[in-house]
Amino acid sequence: DPRLHAIKTNIRVVPNFPKPGIMFQDITTLLLDPKAFKDTIDLFVERYKAKNISVVAGIEARGFIFGPPIALAIGAKFVPLRKPKKLPGKVISQEYTLEYGSDCLEMHVGAVEPGERALVVDDLIATGGTLCAAMDLLERVGAEVVECACVIELPELKGRERLNGKPLYVLVEYL
Ligand code: 5GP
Repeated sequence: DPRLHAIKTNIRVVPNFPKPGIMFQDITTLLLDPKAFKDTIDLFVERYKAKNISVVAGIEARGFIFGPPIALAIGAKFVPLRKPKKLPGKVISQEYTLEYGSDCLEMHVGAVEPGERALVVDDLIATGGTLCAAMDLLERVGAEVVECACVIELPELKGRERLNGKPLYVLVEYL
């Protein structure tokens, strides 16, 4: 798709952020180009508009940038999956392991009903741990995760293999 080139070139790579040795993929520069940002959303909307998705679950924080415009365009609700102690209502929590230590995602109880068809959205998949935790939360409340969608994949980290065969759709790879 000719739109992908401009999407890729508008993502800035910042070396040694947030730690030495990390090449950080910065999507804030993509947001500064209205055409490339709109194309990003449109590509996801074209893929998901006829898939009967009732809920888009966005992962804090950058899944909150891409998820809501997709949800609005396909007529789905948006559910934020948040870091611990941010949501005011009753939550279910899912811990996951990071390179060093662990983290946790939370979702409001009642936000997603059994049998709902869910799309999980984040900006980037690295090791896949975050998407795994998000899928676990949705499946624990009885939803069906149709697919995970990210703007960027770091294929060297083999996060895709951690998703237990669940389909993953990405727009650009960074090698
Ligand atoms: P994973 O759990 O797949 O190892 O890491 C993915 C999570 O970390 C995502 O929520 C993503 O936002 C964040 N992340 C890790 N590395 C980067 C990066 O280089 N750029 C951005 N924008 N997010 C990153």
